[in-house]
Amino acid sequence: MQYAPYSYSKIVLFNKCPYAWKLKYIDQIEEEKHPALKLGSIVHEVIAEYLKQIRDRGEQSNHVILEQLIKQQPASVKEDLAPFIPAIRDIILPPGVKAGIELQLGVDQNFKPCEYSSESAFLRGKIDYTYRVEDTIVIIDWKTNQFPPPQEVIEDDWQTRFYALLTGCFAPAEVTKFVIELNYLRHRKIRKLEIGRDELNRIKEWIIKNVEAIENEKNFEPSPGDWCELCGYHRLCPVVKPVLQSATSELAIPEKIATKEQATKLAGMLKVLDQVRDRLQRLLKEWISEHGGINIKGEVLDFHQVETFKWETPEQKSNLAKKLLENGVNQEEIWDIFSVNKTSVCSFARKHGLKDKIEEILSTGQRHVYERFCFKKS
Ligand code: SF4
Repeated sequence: MQYAPYSYSKIVLFNKCPYAWKLKYIDQIEEEKHPALKLGSIVHEVIAEYLKQIRDRGEQSNHVILEQLIKQQPASVKEDLAPFIPAIRDIILPPGVKAGIELQLGVDQNFKPCEYSSESAFLRGKIDYTYRVEDTIVIIDWKTNQFPPPQEVIEDDWQTRFYALLTGCFAPAEVTKFVIELNYLRHRKIRKLEIGRDELNRIKEWIIKNVEAIENEKNFEPSPGDWCELCGYHRLCPVVKPVLQSATSELAIPEKIATKEQATKLAGMLKVLDQVRDRLQRLLKEWISEHGGINIKGEVLDFHQVETFKWETPEQKSNLAKKLLENGVNQEEIWDIFSVNKTSVCSFARKHGLKDKIEEILSTGQRHVYERFCFKKS
């Protein structure tokens, strides 16, 4: 093993972009950490410190301690932490169980426990929060993503399985299942996955297959995709750099596309430019929120207020309907404004345990297919 120890993020980075992986793990070049990732680390630190303090006092929650910890943060961090505070306040340590906070786990090539920093460590990982209840180990992972992914994505997720395997290597034989809770703090949403002990061998196979691919890799080619947005090696990337140079030179953009090769090259350019655009937007948002808008030829780039109204609660919807009826609108016509869409119907069906009936439920609506010019995974 040239590159052990392996963590989940180490495996996953290789699957996304072998070139970024090489820069990080072989060349050991320090990456520029994206602000979203920096914030994620701060949120994790605050939660870990908070939980350690209340656990050591034998308490289940203590908002005074939490407020003190937040107060100690610099002003700019406090603001960034704000969206996560309600969810952190919701955390209640289960009574009478010994909880592990930021547990550092390591296992050797035989999947036997070893020290996290030992030379024989083959896999290792940090578990945000874990405890055991009878035959079940509960593993909690704090998530700071913008949006929680749908449950189907979680069902196929390997990160949760990786954690289950690591804890499984330490768990006594009486433990038969692992419940992984992904707590999406911004939205106070929890996604759960249950994994039986019998699944651990399949997880080992997945890890070994991935590790073999990494150990045998020779080329470490760059592989651009959605993940470039968070990549800390933009400036060194042989794909992004020339595209940026070409994009600023009009010569690189022909009057008309003549060959498929040229079209493919331009499509690649468009893909990278999309990611560069997202990145520029993020950087500018940060700068503008601190220093104010930027005027470019009479147009100001800033956070402009847009007025919008929502009718979310049943009461608001009923008041709207009443108002329209009072004003002579026909009852049949009122339905038109309470529009539903595929996403809302599907999530409603899932929430009410009707996942298997989704196709049937959708068939009550009118199907529309339209074309959108965009990149989509093949
Ligand atoms: S920008 Fe994209 S393609 Fe380039 S190194 Fe980073 S992840 Fe790889």
